[in-house]
Amino acid sequence: MNSAEMKVPNWMLQIGEYRFNKYCRSKGPKARWVCSQNSMGCRASVVTIDNNIVNKKNEHNHRKKAD
Ligand SMILES: [Zn+2]
Repeated sequence: MNSAEMKVPNWMLQIGEYRFNKYCRSKGPKARWVCSQNSMGCRASVVTIDNNIVNKKNEHNHRKKAD
């Protein structure tokens, strides 16, 4: 089992220490995720298709999640 894939809600994606929230609902298998700190100006984002990461822009303006 991959320890990087933690049990989180299906609207949340965790990559390392960063968490991403599902940006919007889409009908197809493709989903876009934005960093949980998006509202704080972080522009990191991830695109998944069928839960596989196909595009990752893991550039954060902060060290890790802040909660
Ligand atoms: Zn971020």
